[in-house]
Amino acid sequence: MIDCIFCKIVKKDVPSEILRENEDAVIFKDIRPSAPIHYLIVPKKHIVSVKEVTREDEALLGRLVHMAKEAADTLSLTGYKLVFNVGKDGGQIIDHLHLHLLGGWK
Ligand code: AMP
Ligand code: ZN
Repeated sequence: MIDCIFCKIVKKDVPSEILRENEDAVIFKDIRPSAPIHYLIVPKKHIVSVKEVTREDEALLGRLVHMAKEAADTLSLTGYKLVFNVGKDGGQIIDHLHLHLLGGWK
């Protein structure tokens, strides 16, 4: 997706503070954090939102959650929130599926 900011971050055409990367996804710091610790788990595949997820993406979604858990462990988070905003009415601004990892209150 040529005009997708998250595709550009995945391709390193736009800089970001990357915590972790594997063949499925990139985890980078949210530029406008909503919590003391706020990362985004972003699949390399351009999927618009959870609404567009197909059976083919089931395993990928599981791996995103697992990556979030590993990142939380790395960051020593004892508790955290994992959030998908879905669609404009669900607060989604960037049309490339992403999982928010929020924590650090304690
Ligand atoms: P959402 O509302 O679920 O679409 O969340 C999009 C998130 O992406 C917001 O929390 C933004 O602060 C964050 N964001 C937007 N542009 C960038 C960027 N270039 N680098 C890092 N985070 C970004
Ligand atoms: Zn994209």
